[in-house]
Amino acid sequence: MQAVDVVIVGAGPSGSAAATTLARAGRNVLVVDRATFPRDKCCGDGLTTGALRELESLGFSPQGLTTWQPVDDVVVRSPSGREVVFPLPRGRGTYAAVVQREELDAALVDVARRAGATVADGHAFTTVDVEAERVVIDVDGIGAVQARYAIAADGMWSPLRKAVGAIEPGYLGEWHAFRQYFTGVTGRGGRELAVWFEADLLPGYAWSFPLPGGRANVGFGIQRGGKVATQEMKELWPDLLKREFVREFLGPDAEPEQSHKAWPIPARIESAQLVAGGGRILLVGDAAAATDPMTGEGIGQALLTGRLAAEASVPLATSSKPTPPCRGSSSAR
Ligand SMILES: Cc1cc2nc3c(=O)[nH]c(=O)nc-3n(C[C@H](O)[C@H](O)[C@H](O)COP(=O)(O)OP(=O)(O)OC[C@H]3O[C@@H](n4cnc5c(N)ncnc54)[C@H](O)[C@@H]3O)c2cc1C
Repeated sequence: MQAVDVVIVGAGPSGSAAATTLARAGRNVLVVDRATFPRDKCCGDGLTTGALRELESLGFSPQGLTTWQPVDDVVVRSPSGREVVFPLPRGRGTYAAVVQREELDAALVDVARRAGATVADGHAFTTVDVEAERVVIDVDGIGAVQARYAIAADGMWSPLRKAVGAIEPGYLGEWHAFRQYFTGVTGRGGRELAVWFEADLLPGYAWSFPLPGGRANVGFGIQRGGKVATQEMKELWPDLLKREFVREFLGPDAEPEQSHKAWPIPARIESAQLVAGGGRILLVGDAAAATDPMTGEGIGQALLTGRLAAEASVPLATSSKPTPPCRGSSSAR
């Protein structure tokens, strides 16, 4: 059986941040992800100042990323139609940026690999056994892996969290959000980042986040339990795109690249379970419902919670000694 100090399930921003931090501290770390990178993640692709500072602390550089778009001005529109432009500080670094998750997450996996972590993408976690001194997980195509600790960085539906029973039946997240890429964006949407508050979307908002080459990530998110039911979002989406200020912002030639995608956003870290399996499993990022409850922003929070979980486990996760395989297992399936 393969033995490591820490095994991480999920190689999104939270998993990569945890892996990089642990590997730099000299820990033997394995990250498994069921997807093969680069892979898409349904997201607005927006990086806040907090996310950018976390990325910098990991040693991440945007150099060479073709979808990286720094942002200078943030446009906020109120339900009455009043628009305010907030200029971000100039000449003192980057305070907001947009980058396609397909590219960002693959680059973060590379950062983790360069730090010394082993990343096995294309391999799904399936089952877990938690014992007093170790965790044994089973991974498709790899087999059993034992570790002192496991980090669940496997997103909103966290199969690792589910496998240890740390779930609330029927939980669907606090937010639900749509995203669609547009091409042929000739209006302000090609360079400005907009957040639109519309009366019928409250509590929620729509956005247009610029990408290089006349492209934009356009979407909207609403909080569950508000005026709009999540089932109504599909009908609302074409209606929202037809609104005059949206069409003007994107320009007359803007066209969707493919159909929209939707995904839930968990935002309840204050009440979420952060540790499971008798302290052997730490939950981070969306698996810990760590997104901002006001905005649904979660990349910075994923990076931060991944780093914090890694820092907490560094002194405890010393080299593991292989022990005989155990019997019985909890399945994520
Ligand atoms: C429409 C939408 C728009 C958003 N816009 C923004 C935004 O603009 N800015 C922002 O900061 N946040 C945004 N968010 C939130 C953000 O996308 C998430 O908070 C963030 O991706 C969480 O990162 P993570 O690493 O925790 O999880 P994820 O990025 O979801 O990564 C989880 C990983 O776990 C892997 N995994 C799952 N199951 C298994 C398994 N069985 N075995 C192995 N691996 C597994 C998955 O393949 C995936 O790679 C948005 C969310 C949505 C839905």
